[in-house]
Amino acid sequence: MVKVGVLGLQGAIREHVKALETKEADIVIVKRIEQLEDLDGLVLPGGESTTMRRLIDQYGFLEPLKAFAAEKPIFGTCAGLILLSERIEGLEGSHIGVMDVTAKRNAFGRQRESFEAPLPVKGLDEDFIGVFIRAPYIEEVGENVEVLATFNDKIVAARDGRFLACAFHPELTDDDRMHQLFIDMVLEFKKEGLATK
Ligand code: GLN
Repeated sequence: MVKVGVLGLQGAIREHVKALETKEADIVIVKRIEQLEDLDGLVLPGGESTTMRRLIDQYGFLEPLKAFAAEKPIFGTCAGLILLSERIEGLEGSHIGVMDVTAKRNAFGRQRESFEAPLPVKGLDEDFIGVFIRAPYIEEVGENVEVLATFNDKIVAARDGRFLACAFHPELTDDDRMHQLFIDMVLEFKKEGLATK
């Protein structure tokens, strides 16, 4: 059994809890810094990364989140992906900034503010329906980053060691396989206690 938190400041929080709840994990909505202490993994939900960053700063979460990321697995979806990225196009600096990727915000353009697409995802035997809402994509990845899914040649899911990120919203479907992937990572990480990414 592992304990996994969902950052509860803004965004699709309940939906993530629901998707994770069926798993080999206790789920906690994290609203206070102290709640990070005994977690084995953390989910950063989709929402709006600028709003989330404002709340992160307001509640003093940035340093604790960076410290958490230095030790434990994190799964970021959509805005969560942006929070995890080391580089964000058009922005100086990053937020938590631990995944060796460059994110481009609202990257599918106005025409495609929101859409669904079946995606082959590495590690899943059947396509995953990606729900994209003002989604980012990953423009560039570092050499140790594993690309898990692309859509129209754009990277929309990736793993960098203990960090998993996707540009779409797996919590808005009934398909919990992406969450299971993350729980498996957390279980594996807890068992192996990998010191590095
Ligand atoms: N466009 C949003 C951002 O930049 C992300 C959208 C989402 O999480 N659905 O944070």
